[in-house]
Amino acid sequence: MKLTYCKNCVMPNTKPDLFFDEEGVCDACQSAERKEEIDWTSRKKEFEAVLEKYRSKDKTNYDCIIPVSGGKDSTYQTYVVKKIYGLNPLCVCFEPTHQTSLGKKNIDNLGRLGVDVIFFKKNPEVYKKMVIEGLRRVGDNEWPNHVGIFTVPINVSVRYGIPLVIWGENSQLEYGGPKAAADREVLDRRWLEEFGGLLGNRVEDMLNVEGITREDLLPYTYPSQQELDRVGVRGIFLGYYFKWDARAQLEIIKKHGFSVKEDGPVEGTYTNYENLDEATVSVHDYLKFVKYGFGRATDHACIDIRNKRISRKEGLRLVRQYDGVYPKYGVTNLIDYSGLSKTEIDSIFDQFTNKQIFKVDTHGILVRDAAGNLIKNNYDNE
Ligand SMILES: [Zn+2]
Repeated sequence: MKLTYCKNCVMPNTKPDLFFDEEGVCDACQSAERKEEIDWTSRKKEFEAVLEKYRSKDKTNYDCIIPVSGGKDSTYQTYVVKKIYGLNPLCVCFEPTHQTSLGKKNIDNLGRLGVDVIFFKKNPEVYKKMVIEGLRRVGDNEWPNHVGIFTVPINVSVRYGIPLVIWGENSQLEYGGPKAAADREVLDRRWLEEFGGLLGNRVEDMLNVEGITREDLLPYTYPSQQELDRVGVRGIFLGYYFKWDARAQLEIIKKHGFSVKEDGPVEGTYTNYENLDEATVSVHDYLKFVKYGFGRATDHACIDIRNKRISRKEGLRLVRQYDGVYPKYGVTNLIDYSGLSKTEIDSIFDQFTNKQIFKVDTHGILVRDAAGNLIKNNYDNE
């Protein structure tokens, strides 16, 4: 199998739901081009109209919900809503899988922007069972995190009667995905199920796993249509209304107390400002690499190329250096968190590795280089 790469960025054709035009340019690059043509002034006005419609006029309730992790996006969302528009949001944080001290520092910093934060501390046993099952079943240790970060804020929205939920970027727009998903301004149940990274494993599929009950799954269960309609829940992407540029936003939020990783890049990529809160997220990124042949460094290089911060050549260099390096830090933390052995985690990696993308020997066993990393069959991406 020959990986084909976008002619403009460095994304391969193995990315699920990514399409290429006749010139070999991926649709994420095309939507980045379209961003240049959007009338952002009128989008901003649309956003202001939404805020005006939904804010609590008599101030008896919060104006909106902001789902937060303490990461750069949620800090920026809070900054825009609180500092620029002067609204009173209720921030909702779903506890990370295995929080880092830097993640804790950043979530604590959020409160200092002058907002209330609900920190949803999950039932650790139930969550851990789903981490292990997600890893074994669909090759994703962060599966319950993808669910909880979407469902918990919506459940709070319903319970508190706060209809407007303000999300950050539309990942389908920033990282590439079907046009139908990328052009949407709203995040709803359908978006979550189709594009939220659940990998075909539904929440109810976790019922009875190691004795998991329906009650255990309450926080992970999306409210019924009836409940959503009663409150009039509306989830919007800030990235639909404002031109999203992570690096520019970073400079703003750093002035408001956001901390980056000062001692070098996050494992699996070359940047130091994202995925700071999860000590096991590089395992998730590595699994993506073994399944599809690209990792987080590719995602970041693509964005930097599209935002014209680096050349494609520089992007390729960064991808070669950082993508697919065995995630020692993440694995160590996953062993510590889950109690799984390194042997079992490695065998799960192997089980999800696409042997058409990576070199195998005559017995079909994966070949590794001196550093223990997989070797791509072709790296024909120039
Ligand atoms: Zn592209």
